[in-house]
Amino acid sequence: MSKDRYVLDSNKNIDDTLKLISIHKGVNKGFFFMLLGLYIVSAIGTVRTSHSPNDITFILGYSVPTFAITGVFSSLGHICIICLTVFFRKTGYITSMFLVISALPGLLVNIFIRHRHVNLPGIFTSLLTIIAITVIFLNNRRIEKYQQRMSEEAVTDSLTGLPNRFAGKELMDEITAANERFAFVSVDLNNFKSINDTMGHAVGDKVLVEVADRWKNLADTNQTGTADFVSRLSADEYSLIIRNFKTDLDLLRSIKAYKEELEKRITIEDCDFFMTACFGYAVYPDDADNSGALFSAADTAMHEIKRANSSNCILRYTQNLNKTEMKMDIERKIRAAIENDAILFNLQPQYDINHKLRGFEALARLKDADGSFISPAEFIPVAEEAGLIDVLDLCVFKKAAAFFGEVIRSGGEDLTLSINISVRHLLKNTFIEEIKDVLDVNSIPPKNLEIEITESIMIDSAGKALECVRDAKNIGIKVAIDDFGTGYSSLSYLNQFPASLIKIDKSFIDGMNTSEASKQYVATIISIGHILNLEVISEGVESDDQLDTLKDIGCDFIQGYIWGRPLPPEEARKLVCA
Ligand code: C2E
Ligand code: CA
Ligand code: CA
Repeated sequence: MSKDRYVLDSNKNIDDTLKLISIHKGVNKGFFFMLLGLYIVSAIGTVRTSHSPNDITFILGYSVPTFAITGVFSSLGHICIICLTVFFRKTGYITSMFLVISALPGLLVNIFIRHRHVNLPGIFTSLLTIIAITVIFLNNRRIEKYQQRMSEEAVTDSLTGLPNRFAGKELMDEITAANERFAFVSVDLNNFKSINDTMGHAVGDKVLVEVADRWKNLADTNQTGTADFVSRLSADEYSLIIRNFKTDLDLLRSIKAYKEELEKRITIEDCDFFMTACFGYAVYPDDADNSGALFSAADTAMHEIKRANSSNCILRYTQNLNKTEMKMDIERKIRAAIENDAILFNLQPQYDINHKLRGFEALARLKDADGSFISPAEFIPVAEEAGLIDVLDLCVFKKAAAFFGEVIRSGGEDLTLSINISVRHLLKNTFIEEIKDVLDVNSIPPKNLEIEITESIMIDSAGKALECVRDAKNIGIKVAIDDFGTGYSSLSYLNQFPASLIKIDKSFIDGMNTSEASKQYVATIISIGHILNLEVISEGVESDDQLDTLKDIGCDFIQGYIWGRPLPPEEARKLVCA
C-alpha cells in the first residue's frame, strides 16, 4: 500500500472544505447583491410612483412627497443593515437585528391602530431583511467554521489526530529562531507494509492510530522527563521533537522510552502485533544549523539503520553517514548506467617523445541526470566497493574495443589501446576468456591491447594476480604498471613481474618542477625500467618544463594535458587520421 493514499486523503479533505467555503461565499455574495438591487429598485420605484400624497416636504425649494422620502431612507437603511451583517459578522448581525426589530412596533402601530396601510410594504421589507441577514449571518458562521477546520487540517494529521509535518516544521523553526538546543528524531515503523498487505488497510490504520495514541500519551504526561512533541510525517513515518534535555544520555533515554512504548504488544481485532521502528536523530545546533538540514540529518541516520539492517535501532547522525548516502546514490547511478548500457568512455592519447601517436588509454565516464559527468575518482572506488568494477571495466573495454577495431582497420595497426583493469576483474576466472572474446569480435590482435594494473594491486594480491597477468602476457597482451611509485614495490618484485611498461604517477611528474630530488627520482625510475627492459611513460605531463626534463632523462612516452586531454571517441578518431 502506498504512502500516497494518506497524502491523497488529507488533500481531499482540504479540497472538499475549500469547495464548501467557496459555495457559501457564493451564496452570501448572491444574497447581498440581490438585496442591494432589490432595495435600490424599490427606492427608485417609491420615488417614481409616489403620487397624490397628502404630506409634502420641501427640499431645496422642491416639493417632494414625504412618503417618497421615508421610502428612500428606509431602503438605504436596509442596505446599511445588510452591510453591517456582512462586514461586522456577529456584532453587525446583533446590531442589525436590534435596529430592524425596534422599528417594527412603530410600523405595527401605524397599520393596526392608525390604519395607515401605506406602512405595509415596510413590514414586508423588514421581514425580508431579517431573513436575509439571518441567512448571511449563518452562512458566515459556517464559513468561519470551515476556515478553522481547514487551518486545523493544514497542521493536523487526519487519521491519527497528531500534528503533521507542517506543524513539526513550524515548531522547529520557532525553536531554532530562539537558538534553543533540541533533537529531531525521524521514526519509521518496520514492516508496516506487510501489515497492510496481509491484514488490510483498516487494520493498518488502527495500528497507526494506536502507535500515535501511545506516543501522544507519553509526551503529554511528561513521563520521559523531557518536553516532547510527536507528529506524523506520512504513512508509517513519525517524528519527535525533544527539548529540555540536560545531557545526551537524557535524550537517548527519552527516545528509548518511545521505542519501549512502541514495542509493547498491540492487539487489534484479536490479532497481536509487535511493532519495531528505526529512530534516526540529530541535535540542533550540534549536527545541523537550520531546521531543514536537521530534518535531513535525522532522516539520513534513520535510513542508515534501515540500510544496515542493524539491530541497534537508534542512531545519531554523523558526517560519515552523509558519505554513505552519497556512495549509495553513486552506486544506484552506476547500476542504472550498466543496466541501460550508459557507461561511456573517453580516450586519452599517448605519444612517444617525438610527439608520434602511440595509442589511447580508455577512461570510464559516467553521466549524471543533469548531464554533468561524475568524476571517476568518485565512482571508481564506489564501483570497486560495490563489486561492480569488473562489469564496469568490461563495459568500457567492449565499447573502446569497438572503436579501436575500426581505428586499426583504418590504418592504425601500430596503435595501442590501454585499458584499466581492476583486481576484481583480473582475478575473475573468466577474465582471459572475456578479453579474448572481445578482441576476436572486433578483430583486434592481442599485441594492440595493453592492460593497466596498479602497482598496489600487483603487490596486495601477489600470487593469483601474477598468474593472471602471465596468462595475458602469454597470449600477447601488453601489461603496464599504473601509478608506479605510489605502491612501494621492491626491485625484485618488479623484476619478476611480467610487465612491458611502467607508468610513472602524476604526483612525481608534478614534483619535478620544484624539487631536484623528484627529478632524480623520476630519472632513476626510468633508468631502472630500462635496465629491466621495460618502457616508461610519464602521466599527467602538463608543462613545457616537465616535457623538456622528461626528454633529457630519456622517458619513452608522454601522456598528459600538454599533448592531449581525454577525448570522446569521435574527437580521438581525428587524431588517428591526422
Ligand atoms: P589513471 O588510470 O591513472 O588515469 C589517468 C587519470 O589522470 C585520468 O583521470 C586522466 O584524465 C588524468 N590525467 C591525464 N593527464 C592529466 C594531466 O595532464 N593533468 C591532470 N590533472 N590529469 C591528467 P580520470 O579519467 O579522472 O581517471 C581517474 C582514475 O579512475 C584513473 O586513473 C583510473 O584509476 C580510474 N579509471 C578510469 N577509468 C577506469 C576504468 O575503465 N576502469 C578502472 N578500473 N578504473 C578506471
Ligand atoms: Ca590508468
Ligand atoms: Ca595512473
